[in-house]
Amino acid sequence: MMDTSAPIYLDYAATTPLDPAVIVAMTDCLAAEGGRGNPASLHGWGRRAAARIETARSEIAALIGAVAEEIVFTSGATESDNLALLGAARAAADRGRHLVSTRIEHKAGLDPCKRLQKEGFALTLVAPDQSGQIDPQALAAALRPETVLVSVMWVNNETGVIQDVAAIGALCRARGILFHTDAAQAVGKVPMRVRELPIDLMSFTAHKFYGPKGIGALYVRDGVRARLQPLLYGGGQERGLRPGTLPTHQIVGFGAACTLARAALEHEPQRLAALREQLWAHFGALGGVHLNGAGAPRVPGILNVSIEGVEGESLVTGLSDLAVSTGSACNSASAEPSYVLRALGRDTELAQSSLRFSLGRFSQPADIEAAAAAVRREVMRLRALSPAAEPQRSASEAQLVGEAGGPGRDVWVRFRLRVEAGRVAHAAYRVYGCPHTMAAAAWLAERVQGRAVADVVPGTPQEWAAALNVPAEKLGRLLTLEDALRECQRRGVTV
Ligand SMILES: *Cc1c(COP(=O)(O)O)cnc(C)c1O
Repeated sequence: MMDTSAPIYLDYAATTPLDPAVIVAMTDCLAAEGGRGNPASLHGWGRRAAARIETARSEIAALIGAVAEEIVFTSGATESDNLALLGAARAAADRGRHLVSTRIEHKAGLDPCKRLQKEGFALTLVAPDQSGQIDPQALAAALRPETVLVSVMWVNNETGVIQDVAAIGALCRARGILFHTDAAQAVGKVPMRVRELPIDLMSFTAHKFYGPKGIGALYVRDGVRARLQPLLYGGGQERGLRPGTLPTHQIVGFGAACTLARAALEHEPQRLAALREQLWAHFGALGGVHLNGAGAPRVPGILNVSIEGVEGESLVTGLSDLAVSTGSACNSASAEPSYVLRALGRDTELAQSSLRFSLGRFSQPADIEAAAAAVRREVMRLRALSPAAEPQRSASEAQLVGEAGGPGRDVWVRFRLRVEAGRVAHAAYRVYGCPHTMAAAAWLAERVQGRAVADVVPGTPQEWAAALNVPAEKLGRLLTLEDALRECQRRGVTV
């Protein structure tokens, strides 16, 4: 939904641009022979392609502190999560059918767990504390004798909070339970020696650290392969765990990105932390800004804030020269405000007023200054629009207020109707919700003007949905708007 020509890119947690050195490595590979030989072929072309792949495999292993044989190539972290979770659970099904994960996983981790529930597995999702951390003791309490697999992400993609995977892995190791971590936001950002940690399976992906999209890996600890069932069957590549012709140029780009990341880990975290602090200092001056993940260890590149009095989706819409993400509703099919922020205990209003700034290799202090100034301008503008500045009313006028929705719901709305001689003279509203909800509230506020209080609701939510092209699954939000108007009406009639 963001303008792709946005001059300031602060969405590195969604994906990163390719590093120029990665482009060179990939185009060299394509122009030379990477595009010709099948790495599984035994002739010279094939052997040279295979050699490039094995070099890259070693570069990748070196970044995470593994050995090359433990790297299984996939199409990205989504596939790695699926292979780890579905593969390990299905292979262990006769030993036990209980899984433990968390409420703050990426969908790529949550949805395979939900799929396994349909296959008869029981699932426990551990909640984080208010800072967004999973308490290892809370996780230990969720383990059962029949637990076969635990999956906890290393770094959360929305808040940047770092989980104690060493402690959680140790709990699992002591009980003989496989431990998987989604490290898509950790690899290349936190130094790691995965072999020295009690981690059995680890998912990651090249495009989160300046490599190409469409290539990732699953780290499979030496000895754990036999405990995984493949998702695909075919040519036997990746020792049967993930068959299919390997994409040589993608893997070469992945390897180059790992080598660059290994060097960058020396200085880049400190630089990003300073930029993040610079940004946060500006928000402090704005007032009413809450840091999500405060009090927990976080990666330096992510700053997630909730801004009182504005709605994330409207804010992002107003920031067309800034590429950032919002955790608010409507940007996913589920139409929920960020379940991650909700799990941290944020109410709907603050969860929907969140922005995630993610910084990276090409971010400069001037970008931070420009971003902070743009956000400040837009927040001031939206706050000024919000109906704190309502017209003063005289004694002869009545004011009717109706509110509906709220914490735990996708939407909250308040209508404030100024009534003169039994008719609505002016309607103000305040709403948190997706753009559909906001548009519908504005549309209704216009339509109720001039209507008699006893007949203030202009038609039915179904009619509004049709008039405004609101998708059927959002009808519930329009019902909430109707509730608020009915509340005004009820007050008008009884007062
Ligand atoms: C980006 C991301 C994924 C998905 O990675 P793809 O390579 O795009 O499939 C999974 N988990 C987390 C935590 C992520 O940030």
